[in-house]
Amino acid sequence: MKTIQAYRFALDLTAGQERDMLAHAGAARVAHNWALAKVKAVMDQRAAERSYGVAEEHLTPSLSWSLAGLRKAWNATKPEVAPWWPEVSKEAFNTGLDALARALKNWADSRNGKRAGRPVGFPRFRSRRRTTPSVRFTTGAIRVAPDRMHVVLPRLGSLKLHESARKLARRLDNGTARIMSATVRLDGGRWHVSFTVEVDRVEGTPARPGSVVGVDVGIKHLAVLSTGELVDNPRHLVAAQQRMRSLGRALSRKTGPDRRSGRRPSKRWERAATRLGRAHTRVANLRRDGLHKLTTRIATTYDTIVVEDLNVTGMLANRQLARHIADAGFAEIRRQLAYKTVWNGGRLLIADRWYPSSKTCSGCGAVKTKLALHEREYACKACGLVIDRDCNASLNLATLAATFDTAGSGPVAARGADQKTRVRGQVATKREPGTTSVGQTGTVPPQGGTTKRVLTAAH
Ligand SMILES: [Zn+2]
Repeated sequence: MKTIQAYRFALDLTAGQERDMLAHAGAARVAHNWALAKVKAVMDQRAAERSYGVAEEHLTPSLSWSLAGLRKAWNATKPEVAPWWPEVSKEAFNTGLDALARALKNWADSRNGKRAGRPVGFPRFRSRRRTTPSVRFTTGAIRVAPDRMHVVLPRLGSLKLHESARKLARRLDNGTARIMSATVRLDGGRWHVSFTVEVDRVEGTPARPGSVVGVDVGIKHLAVLSTGELVDNPRHLVAAQQRMRSLGRALSRKTGPDRRSGRRPSKRWERAATRLGRAHTRVANLRRDGLHKLTTRIATTYDTIVVEDLNVTGMLANRQLARHIADAGFAEIRRQLAYKTVWNGGRLLIADRWYPSSKTCSGCGAVKTKLALHEREYACKACGLVIDRDCNASLNLATLAATFDTAGSGPVAARGADQKTRVRGQVATKREPGTTSVGQTGTVPPQGGTTKRVLTAAH
């Protein structure tokens, strides 16, 4: 099975290498901004000529918006615009032009209705302050050094890794992986290299064939499984979150920038902002690490995994930090499980977002009309069951899987699931609450509907 995977490593750059990287990132920006200015100038010129009544065929020829077209225009002009161009890799300019070509295409597609989702704005100029420095290498000698502690990139030479790249190196050595590109970027105050790799994976089988597990993503715990297992948040996460909050308060006490009065931020504010940024990165890293460990374990163990769909309305209604973090984790768990179940030969089922997994009694199936967020225990009035709220929800999700198999065995249901899969794919990539993609309009909540509407297979 061929898959595209990313391998990301932190780098330990020398001061000189860091300067080189920033020079490359700057070159990417220069090419991007030059090409954007050129595109705008041609567009304005054509609009002006049209307003004077110039015939279409006599207008200033339009500039090609494709990467090849932009590159051709750039190469013709670079000796004037950037006489220093031989000092950096051509990949740097390519990075900037590629980003612009994509942005222009997205804008055009969005305007013509060819692109779903929120309207895409016209590309903007990139400022040195606001842009994340990044360069992508797609050609030339990109490799992992034999010691597995260095990577070699064109022009930049050998860069030291913060941790060993042995997993990737092993795959490269035995021929099950091929590096397609490498991107170096400054992420959360730290340089990283991310390889896009085509990996030939051996498909696994779940350790427990035929097993079913429901996963409920919680606030207090990372997740609750229908087996009754509470998966805790990673160690140090709570401490890191507390530090993040206190640094946030410290920042708000300092003199920050003000756009209206044009006030520049104080040095203390800038230092505090850097500290806060690092704390944010650490929290994100800890969470991601915990989620990866969890999803890998679940995907290698269980055959069928049932999760809930993203709760969009809940995300809108709740502005609490904790809830936001849980919601973000929610989408991430689902994304990771979707591809890890493919790798491991299992399957992922997604419960409809209107399925009342928390409000349903896992003992007798009675549904409550109301269950406030602070009620941590589910107490059933019908059968007297008292159970942890998240545990109850995960049990309901697991029970759903059995009904899916009976309802989903017919050809009609299978086709329905297939169609929905495509729609789901779009939903999964959307992170903003309250937006509806084009493919989704007309979806109505199932009202006492059949199971095949409540559950869909992710792949
Ligand atoms: Zn009950």
